Amino acid sequence: MTLAVRYTAARTLDTARVENPPPGPGEVELAPAYVGICGTDLHIFHGDMDARVTTPAVLGHEMSGRVVRVGPDVEDWRPGDAVTVMPLRWDGDCPACRAGHRHVCQHLDFIGIDSPGAMQQRWTVPAATLVRVPDGVPLDRAALVEPTAVAVHDVARAGVGSGDRVVVVGGGPVGVLIALVARGAGAQVRVVELSPHRRKLAAELGLEVWDPAADDVLALVREWTGDAGADVAFEVSGAAAGVETAVEVLGVRGRLCLVAIHAQPREVNLHRFFWRELTLVGARLYERADFERAVALVADPDFPAGGLISGVVPLTEAPSAFEALEAGGNVMKILVDCGADTEGAAV
Ligand SMILES: [Zn+2]
Repeated sequence: MTLAVRYTAARTLDTARVENPPPGPGEVELAPAYVGICGTDLHIFHGDMDARVTTPAVLGHEMSGRVVRVGPDVEDWRPGDAVTVMPLRWDGDCPACRAGHRHVCQHLDFIGIDSPGAMQQRWTVPAATLVRVPDGVPLDRAALVEPTAVAVHDVARAGVGSGDRVVVVGGGPVGVLIALVARGAGAQVRVVELSPHRRKLAAELGLEVWDPAADDVLALVREWTGDAGADVAFEVSGAAAGVETAVEVLGVRGRLCLVAIHAQPREVNLHRFFWRELTLVGARLYERADFERAVALVADPDFPAGGLISGVVPLTEAPSAFEALEAGGNVMKILVDCGADTEGAAV
């Protein structure tokens, strides 16, 4: 039995002892150390994803932990190995998979949404989902590999190159990580964010940040780019106003990379796409190479991912952490401590 955080109904989480299956062939049992609470988890908590989620559902897909035991036929992993999980299972057989795009498989199992997630003391997953965490990387930082992999994928999809001028609309965890990854690729970056707390945190990470409520963002972009407009904009806000900003800041042949999940159709100024020959590119999840690049970034002490961690709560307090996040306030990334980093002797 393992203690788990479960979503049982809209705005209701509990902690309960549940059965975790022993590792079968090709599977590994993990002891999760830290699990990040992400925007998607909050959508589930709101009840927005009840059509997709089978209750009770164990949440969590941004994690770090250690191998406890391995199933038959698993040769590459040993108890005690530090790992993170790329939480995707694809069928390998649909048109998307056959075209080489397995991360957006048409029958994708996103582990932690479509099947049990990591917010528990023991978690059995396919060995193929494991990604090694190098020795010496703190496991709390390693829990940020998954959102960093999202950012790596987004920056690659947008084709950000050295010298590009990039506007990130939305300065939550993923927006800030996109800004950091784009900066690392040699781009000049500006972040547009409404929340004073998030602006302050992004500024502390050395990012240039604008307040769309107080600053004339379009005028600032014109000034910054010598009237050319930005080369790339990332829409990470999920808001209609964010879409408008991301379109308006772009210069001729600019690329708009859509990252946020928009639950409803949005109006888009298509005339701007015509007039400036803009490109719109969607970016969803990550591929294995993105995940491995994200591990390398998070392992680099100069990459300030740890600055995103607002707090760590024990597993039993995860339900109240969701309520606090729902209420908004001054938080960026909250990690749930599942115990593997401190229990030691368990592995
Ligand atoms: Zn498929």
